[in-house]
Amino acid sequence: MLISSEDSFLKLSRGVIRDLSRVYGSLTDEIIRRLHTPPKRLYARVNTLRASRSDIIAKLKREGVMAYPDEQVEDAIYFEIEGPFRVECQATGRVVVDSRTAVSLMLGANLYRPGVVWAARFNKGDIVLAVTRENIVVACVEMTISYSEMLRTSRGLVGVNVASPYKAPKLAETSVYLEGLIHPQSLPSIVTSHVLNPRRGELIVDMNAAPGGKTSHIIQLTRGGALVVAFDRSIGKIKMLQSTLSKLHLDLNVITVPWDSRYLHVDFNLRGKVSRVLIDPPCSNLGVRPLVESKKWRDVVNLSEYQKQFLKTARELLKPGGVLVYSTCTLTLRENEENIAYAVEELGFNSVEPAITVPYAEKISYRGVVAYRYSPLLHDMPGYFIALLQK
Ligand code: SAH
Repeated sequence: MLISSEDSFLKLSRGVIRDLSRVYGSLTDEIIRRLHTPPKRLYARVNTLRASRSDIIAKLKREGVMAYPDEQVEDAIYFEIEGPFRVECQATGRVVVDSRTAVSLMLGANLYRPGVVWAARFNKGDIVLAVTRENIVVACVEMTISYSEMLRTSRGLVGVNVASPYKAPKLAETSVYLEGLIHPQSLPSIVTSHVLNPRRGELIVDMNAAPGGKTSHIIQLTRGGALVVAFDRSIGKIKMLQSTLSKLHLDLNVITVPWDSRYLHVDFNLRGKVSRVLIDPPCSNLGVRPLVESKKWRDVVNLSEYQKQFLKTARELLKPGGVLVYSTCTLTLRENEENIAYAVEELGFNSVEPAITVPYAEKISYRGVVAYRYSPLLHDMPGYFIALLQK
């Protein structure tokens, strides 16, 4: 079968397109087209507590992987993404993967057990189509174990990517990844922790911590000198967070708690005690490139209401003068600017500018609120939003 770009083109609902057009107007079609392609650069964060950026780049080069230092963010490196390629394969079955895995597979990564959601019976050596829950085809995979072996295991390689529309180095197989010296993370997510600007000696709350990209970065930036309390709502997610922290050797001065963080001010003795709060809430993910999962408009509306609840709680937790960073990997006003305007107008936060210049972002002003927006049209970035508030 030939995977055409149509097979991997997700149809967005009319309401979602309308929300995007409130931001992008006549550029909406162009934005949607860009969202379906990956950026030219794949980013990772260097674990600067354990290695220097130049050592990591040199080590990768010895393994035949070319990495480059980002020009503006000192702990970021990037890899080049090639493509698009015409993808052809004779597949005999299907395996359904989660959306995070779908993005990696589109970039040529191999398939690991945790990413598999469901599979039709297959034999070892079969070529299968990897598809998302919405049946978007993302790659062809040659299964390296049998179906029954796969059911018995919860980790490890299950298939080799034999054809994908894009190609990037397989980061998960590099020594620097396996040794916890880098953490794959988008450039805007790396910038988010810099905007938070955590300091040693502070009490910092991460309200939506798993899988731990930003929590681990906060610990890295403070060299373990701040007390970080990291929440996520399920035990499974907290296990992912713990495994990120221990892999990176960054489980320093951090408490991980499985909890619904909308009620922290009631459930924990944290009211008025926290210096910095990070809210990185579930969102409609419309900025993720390539876009592989669609949300209905109703979901976007519900998510924006849900996100407001974290803002309310953060106000209770923060000390006077304490700061809050709110970030999402999406593009709707409803989940971004309007929520921040709500925090200022209804909750009494002040909108403030970060101590650093926010690299590659567009500075925007909305109802008197300052925020930063990453756009697929500007610098070929994922779609992303960051705002800094002060109590
Ligand atoms: N900050 C993370 C990514 C967060 S994704 C990183 O940088 O790696 C959003 C997270 O919010 C998900 O892990 C989800 O489980 C969590 N979440 C959703 N609702 C929540 C709630 N009510 N309380 C705490 N965490 C919640």
